[in-house]
Amino acid sequence: VSTALYGGAKKSLGTRRGPSSKFIPPVINREEDGCIMRPDNKPPDKTDDEPIDERLKGIDPKMIELINNEIMDHGPKLHWDDVAGLEFAKKTIKEIVVWPMLRPDIFTGLRGPPKGLLLFGPPGTGKTLIGKCIASQSKSTFFCISASSLTSKWVGEGEKMVRALFAVARCNQPAVVFIDEIDSLLSQRSDNEHEASRRIKTEFLVQLDGAATDSDDKILIIGATNRPQEIDEAARRRLVKRLYIPLPEDIARRQIITNLLSQQKHELTDQHLDIICQKSDGYSGSDMANLCREAALGPIRSIPFEQIETITSDEVRAIKIEDFLESLNQVRASVSAKDLDLYTEWNKLYGSFG
Ligand code: ADP
Repeated sequence: VSTALYGGAKKSLGTRRGPSSKFIPPVINREEDGCIMRPDNKPPDKTDDEPIDERLKGIDPKMIELINNEIMDHGPKLHWDDVAGLEFAKKTIKEIVVWPMLRPDIFTGLRGPPKGLLLFGPPGTGKTLIGKCIASQSKSTFFCISASSLTSKWVGEGEKMVRALFAVARCNQPAVVFIDEIDSLLSQRSDNEHEASRRIKTEFLVQLDGAATDSDDKILIIGATNRPQEIDEAARRRLVKRLYIPLPEDIARRQIITNLLSQQKHELTDQHLDIICQKSDGYSGSDMANLCREAALGPIRSIPFEQIETITSDEVRAIKIEDFLESLNQVRASVSAKDLDLYTEWNKLYGSFG
């Protein structure tokens, strides 16, 4: 995995911390695809004499700059193969979102794309990867922000920030606005919480309605959540398509391992992969990435301390099944069976099946 790809880490504006926050694309870097999320490959670099877009009038220039630099994603382009498994979600998204964004001329009226999409499921299952992939594949600008940062980091300014974000998105159409932890913005509780978060929520719903009614705007809003049950009815109704993003099945876990190991020296056979897949039942995609990362440290740990400064990279031994067995003891599944039941229940009630 190239350093360029590591550079595509999630933005720091309050996006989740923890193991899943480090974006490690699970596949080999395709050099020829190595472009960034903004169609022109670079952040907008406005000069003073350039006229300001009408839609940005009245918006704090500092916020605009911040959105351009920190919320607009300039990371690598992603391909559907970068997301292991999730065939149903990928197929649905291609049909109802990506194709219409690419061919708005034939996807009109009844065939028009939904403006709001909710991706729900356990943490670390690829919701953000899918968001990035939709943006890449629909040749859209990708904006990624964590809803909790609007309420915590932008105390008092959150509402303005939401308005600014959508104004900048409108200037960079087609655009995908990805809101992580959207539950913290749209929860039923926030009605009773203090004024500021209520105002952010109202502003967000206004923007969602605006995007939905203005058919000329090519903006897709994607909300991601691990707590779909916290989203209230008004918000749920507006996120018309609600797709369950479950834990990876056997075959997807295998794909994640082989992709991550593809550029490492290893001695794993097909039988070894069977064993790992069997023992990692219930692991999320990010648990799998952690498992591989831990196993990859095995050969390093076996180097005698006095050799660590002098050993050549060729002399570092290959990763073996024993490293994975050890790693399986260290890295455990992060999602409980009880949580999984909640997701399936919610999916039955409110999920979209096509
Ligand atoms: P979420 O947004 O659902 O919490 P992410 O999309 O941020 O999860 O995934 C976190 C990391 O876990 C990714 O960067 C990737 O390394 C790994 N991962 C998770 N799901 C998948 C998947 N379906 N295919 C490949 N890698 C995955």
